[in-house]
Amino acid sequence: MDKIKMSTPLVEMDGDEMTRILWQMIKDELLTPFIDLNTEYYDLGLEHRNETNDQVTVDSAEATKKYGVAVKCATITPNAARMTEYNLKEMWKSPNGTIRAMLDGTVFRAPIIVKGIEPCVKNWKKPITIARHAYGDVYKASEMKIPGPGKCELVYTAEDGTETRELIHNFTGAGVIQGQHNLCDSIESFARSCFTYALDTNQDLWFATKDTISKKYDHTFKDIFQEIYEKEFEEKFKAAGITYFYTLIDDAVARVMKAEGGFIWACKNYDGDVMSDMVSSAFGSLAMMTSVLVSPHGYYEYEAAHGTVQRHYYKHLKGEETSTNSVATIFAWTGALRKRGELDHNQALCDFADKLEAACIKTIEDGKMTKDLALITTNPSPTVLNSENFIKAIRETLEQSL
Ligand code: NAP
Ligand code: MG
Repeated sequence: MDKIKMSTPLVEMDGDEMTRILWQMIKDELLTPFIDLNTEYYDLGLEHRNETNDQVTVDSAEATKKYGVAVKCATITPNAARMTEYNLKEMWKSPNGTIRAMLDGTVFRAPIIVKGIEPCVKNWKKPITIARHAYGDVYKASEMKIPGPGKCELVYTAEDGTETRELIHNFTGAGVIQGQHNLCDSIESFARSCFTYALDTNQDLWFATKDTISKKYDHTFKDIFQEIYEKEFEEKFKAAGITYFYTLIDDAVARVMKAEGGFIWACKNYDGDVMSDMVSSAFGSLAMMTSVLVSPHGYYEYEAAHGTVQRHYYKHLKGEETSTNSVATIFAWTGALRKRGELDHNQALCDFADKLEAACIKTIEDGKMTKDLALITTNPSPTVLNSENFIKAIRETLEQSL
């Protein structure tokens, strides 16, 4: 069989620890035997980030703006322990944070559904994709403890010095206050990323806030979404046969529990933080969650939702066998290859991505899986494979379908 050609390079962001080991295995076993892999390689492993003073992260984000599609391996976000472990010059920022800020994107997380790994919510049949707004609100709030009686106000001083005041509360005793903000630009980008991704994946979009109570703050989110929808997306949604649906956050939560899935749920920052953990654990496993950063300018960066699986890496370093699940990382590659194929009208590449995903699912449904899944499957007699043999089993399934 001739290898599939790629006309435009994919931005490849290598990473750390166990996922870096899986990264190489995936390329060797599942990609390069079938594709003339055309990537522009950036090593975001912590050692190389440190050597380049983190310039490599910035360069990889710039390359994503140039080519449009990136695939990223999980990376270490340094903390005090990592400073010592890697002898770092500085506590470098989270690469995901740097890339997200440069691409101005929204992160969409979705579970990979296989038979035998059943969601806790029995009516969930299709994935629920969570889109979390990643700016502002309680994450950039100012807070104060109020020691005793006194008046608290919000004060806006315009550039010309004029003041606008809004009473928060006349305290008669001790209490607490908090000031939150958000930016219309950021909310607009969030809205555009959500509408764009709904069209890309042909799924309905839900959005919810508490606008009945928060008549200015949350209502601004609702209004911006509605305005952008009507101006830029309504016709495209109608043509695609999908809908945009706004409701109150408590109503959304109730409906999600009764729904069968297959839609995108856009959440404000705090709601997204809480709901993504609820949805991902209810679907079964962090190792089966995909993640894609979508920018309103049409750039895409695909990755797994989990981290570098440090505990498994230390076992690997000691020469012990690991059974680390590579599915979310493989799906990061297939997501990126499919998007590259769509943009370049390269049907062979899109078809390959579909077949590789199907091979992952079939391998697990045939009972061959890693330990994390064997612990939660309804299959009474799964075969537990180590990291390498699981990838080899996927290759066997894939070859049967090619
Ligand atoms: P983690 O890598 O997500 O792993 C936490 C635990 O979840 C693992 O110890 C393992 O449980 C289980 N797990 C996660 N992925 C798995 C997989 N593919 N297969 C099997 N089990 C899996 O989180 P962490 O260990 O807390 O963080 C390690 C590093 O990752 C940190 O330095 C953090 O900064 C980084 N991180 C990066 C990203 C990113 O780049 N997007 C995201 C999150 C964290 P058991 O040990 O019980 O088997
Ligand atoms: Mg959280």
